[in-house]
Amino acid sequence: MMLQEAKEQLKHYFGYDKFRSGQENIITSILTQKNTLGIMPTGGGKSICYQIPALLSEGLTIVISPLISLMKDQVDALASYGIDAAYINSSLTDTEIRTHMQAAENGEVKLLYIAPERLEAPSFQALLKRTPISLIAVDEAHCISQWGHDFRPSYMKISSMMDLFTERPPVIALTATATPEVIGDIQRILNITTEQTYISGFARENLHFSVVKGEKKKSFIDKYLSQNPSESGIIYTATRKEADQLYTSLHKQGIKIGKYHAGMTEHQRKKAQEEFLFDNISVMVATNAFGMGIDKSNVRFVIHHNLPKNMESYYQEAGRAGRDGEESDCFLLFSPGDIHVQKFLIDQNQHDQVRKSADLAKLKAMVDYCHTEKCLQGTILHYFGDDRPGYQCGKCSNCKDEREAVDITREAQMIFSTIKRVNERFGKTIIAQILKGSKSKRINELRLDQISTFGLLKHQTQQETVDMIDFLTADQYIMLTDSKYPTLVLQEKTLPVLKGEATIQKKVARKPEAIEENDQLFTQLRTLRKQIADRDNVPPYVVFADSTLRAMSAKAPSTRAEMLDIKGVGDMKFEKYGDAFLELLKAANVKPESSDEASHLASFKLFEEGKDIPTIAATRSLSPTTIEGHLLKAIDEGLLQEIDHFMDEETESAILEQADMIGNDKLKPLKEALPESITYFQLKAALSKHRQTMKRG
Ligand code: ADP
Repeated sequence: MMLQEAKEQLKHYFGYDKFRSGQENIITSILTQKNTLGIMPTGGGKSICYQIPALLSEGLTIVISPLISLMKDQVDALASYGIDAAYINSSLTDTEIRTHMQAAENGEVKLLYIAPERLEAPSFQALLKRTPISLIAVDEAHCISQWGHDFRPSYMKISSMMDLFTERPPVIALTATATPEVIGDIQRILNITTEQTYISGFARENLHFSVVKGEKKKSFIDKYLSQNPSESGIIYTATRKEADQLYTSLHKQGIKIGKYHAGMTEHQRKKAQEEFLFDNISVMVATNAFGMGIDKSNVRFVIHHNLPKNMESYYQEAGRAGRDGEESDCFLLFSPGDIHVQKFLIDQNQHDQVRKSADLAKLKAMVDYCHTEKCLQGTILHYFGDDRPGYQCGKCSNCKDEREAVDITREAQMIFSTIKRVNERFGKTIIAQILKGSKSKRINELRLDQISTFGLLKHQTQQETVDMIDFLTADQYIMLTDSKYPTLVLQEKTLPVLKGEATIQKKVARKPEAIEENDQLFTQLRTLRKQIADRDNVPPYVVFADSTLRAMSAKAPSTRAEMLDIKGVGDMKFEKYGDAFLELLKAANVKPESSDEASHLASFKLFEEGKDIPTIAATRSLSPTTIEGHLLKAIDEGLLQEIDHFMDEETESAILEQADMIGNDKLKPLKEALPESITYFQLKAALSKHRQTMKRG
């Protein structure tokens, strides 16, 4: 009964038809007044787990959240759904705080967001005593655990706050990252049973994880940004300095970019964050200071420029991509030197020996993630105790790694023996210079041109050799020393390679793929969304999520009822924005793409990715003949210009010669006049290509 009402609210306010599986359990538990812990991946829909119960109960819901920026966004977003909420924190003036508290007390708002520090304020404690409180929601609940990666002492105040109540309201704790120890802490401190703990799969099925090794970070970023020019994303760097440098360089290249780190003033940070939320800039370069508050749902990519310090931080930061459920990319640009930076930071910042070794163990797990060849999503799930043997996400760089491996044993042997010959005293630049046969002064002075491997890799660029050294270091053939000027040291693994008993393969560099082709209608809808957002002074995703716009562009609703059928369009949103979007859709006079039309493009795309016809047919559960039809259509449209995959040149000219002689208006006689081995598909492909060539002149 209660759940039915909850579903009605979900549809009315948020425009969604059903709860996600985790949400339903958590909400049912809370509605029966039980303390509840919900663990859900980022983007899983945690907010709704307390927002809906808040709407269904009589009193006020207090939401405890660690970061100020998050509150404002949440309150703005709720307002757009027609839900009254307020927040109090240190960014407000005393008068504003008083007004918001008064509103809460008068029952004018259903939800009040607060930072945990507020729990100590006597005026706030008085409010709790005077006002009926229906629910306490603890967001980012892992902050309560000392073993978490983000411990906040003020979260400890929550349990003493609970003592203030004569009749305790239920508590709902929510987090996206929790190892078993952290879960135990949350349960103990907030008095939650295991039965009332609901863990939804940690898997983020819309995220494509990739570890990029041995590629220049900057060129990777340049390539990716140029292929995905209008997408919104975050680039995380390890230090402020790196953030500044990357920002300056990308800014000069004309990228709409902002930066965010702890070295900026609060005003500058706030401004940058808003520019990003409002889609005025598309890319944010930031240190991990930027984050917890980022509730922007249409972040299409997160690039980690450096190795994060542990998997918890990584999954949380990378998880800021694709909260709206749309396909999104998460790249980790790995370079072995980053390990030393992280070790150094742990050494400087952690003085407790037990914690220090725990931190180092966490770092090691992070490094293992970069070296593994198993499914990356599976590796993350395993780390968080969500074990699924044999799990294959099918989307990560390891699952998708079909690149041809090149044998680099010979080059590796040369690199190893150079390192050996210089007694492991130099870094990668000198080693690469020796192999290049460099005439630099330093090489000359050190008489390194006398080394027997001098110039042996002169056919490749110095950078290519450096890249190989990076790759070999990443694969732990070589180790970088901890010293100020790291030198290369050979590991035991190199012995069989030097003896010729083992080989080394390296995959050729991957080209980042564009996320999607730009759909014209989607772009128009986005522009309209931006105009409305600017008018109402809210971030664009608060108007509608990317996924909602995509559904609009696919279904082209033309009536109110059709519009309300679109996921993410609730009554209140329709009131506010529905007409404007309907008008645009009418003006664009679009018809939904016929599935057939899209279908041949999908096959063509797979073909371009190097898949053959049987594979495409299997992937798409269609017959090979259908796929052949799709590819013929692609030839007809001039998309596919090379047909050498389907026949050799001889066959092609045989077909064209016969067609010249007996005409090409009837296929059957043509087929009969040709050798039996030539198929109808080849026949059609050759003719179609010929027509296209003639057309193009
Ligand atoms: P989290 O806090 O877990 O990271 P959010 O609460 O921000 O996630 O929700 C992520 C996105 O999923 C939001 O855009 C939200 O509107 C959407 N969402 C939540 N619940 C549902 C649902 N039942 N059906 C469809 N979309 C949902």
